[in-house]
Amino acid sequence: MHKSIKILSIILSLFIFTTLALDIDSEHTFNSVIAADSLDALEEQLRQLEGERNNANEVIANREEVIRGLREELQNLEATMQRNGADCEDVNENIERNRQKQIDFAKKCGCCMKDIELLRCAENPLTFVLQEQGATSRLIAGLSQKLSELTKSLEQVNAELKSLEILKSELESGNATFGSHLDELNRQISADEAECNEWRQKSLDITQQMRQLEYEIGKVRRASGVYGYTHSPTPRLHTLTSLWGDGRGHKGWDISGPGAFGSPVVAMADGTVIRTGRDRGYGNFIEIDHGYGFAAFCAHLNTINVHPGQRVSAGQQLGKVGNTGNSTGPHLHLECRLNGRAYDPAKEPWLRGRV
Ligand SMILES: [Zn+2]
Repeated sequence: MHKSIKILSIILSLFIFTTLALDIDSEHTFNSVIAADSLDALEEQLRQLEGERNNANEVIANREEVIRGLREELQNLEATMQRNGADCEDVNENIERNRQKQIDFAKKCGCCMKDIELLRCAENPLTFVLQEQGATSRLIAGLSQKLSELTKSLEQVNAELKSLEILKSELESGNATFGSHLDELNRQISADEAECNEWRQKSLDITQQMRQLEYEIGKVRRASGVYGYTHSPTPRLHTLTSLWGDGRGHKGWDISGPGAFGSPVVAMADGTVIRTGRDRGYGNFIEIDHGYGFAAFCAHLNTINVHPGQRVSAGQQLGKVGNTGNSTGPHLHLECRLNGRAYDPAKEPWLRGRV
């Protein structure tokens, strides 16, 4: 048992020695390529890109505002057109009713005229009898009165029909105009949306460039020691119980030691808490953004003392080592992440000489 631990620690030392040696060597080469004063130039470039992205985002916001306005106009127009359509149907029904009346009155007028004609005809025996009694002229007068009333009604119906036809054509031509305006609005909206998408793509491209630049800056900072990783995440624990990979795709390092449970976990550098939470596998966890694409993820914690959005400074306590989640004993699972992807923490300068 003791023997195997000894062998394991020798293998660990060898591994760390090789990784750090490689790391220092690559940084040395890197240092000679990028001078420290190029950091200012890179940061200036980053600021410029940020300005460009802000401009792009402003354009996007303006375009979106315009699109919202157009959509509102479109909705109003559609509602008006729908109302007009309903009105048009009403008018059509009205027209149909009046046409029926027109036919009716015309028929009645015809009958009236025929009766008058009959009464006026001298050969009609009935007329003869009635004439005798002086009633024909009274009947004709009555029928003429009725005829003139019917004609008046007919004229009214005709006038109403005419105005209804005019109203109908107005509604129809109105909707035709609205229809073309609607098409115009739709065209405008899709043009604005296309432009908006172009700007969104522009903004994304800039963000991509910024990430690349931040990565470069991070490399320079790390190489020149400006980056400022000065703290071990576990000041009281110095045993690495599991390394990167570790034959099981381990995405970080496990740190433990005597009295591990409840011992402090601190921020390795200045940063901002991105999130805290509880996960089935990771248990209680904290993620800290250290800027320039770098983040530290601490898991299996017993307690969490920080909250998302909180600024933390190097060495500040974040929580305590625990055994939560999928863990076989109290330890800190540390994941160093660059642009959201975990990488081997052996490549971090703060570990130099500490493990
Ligand atoms: Zn782990």
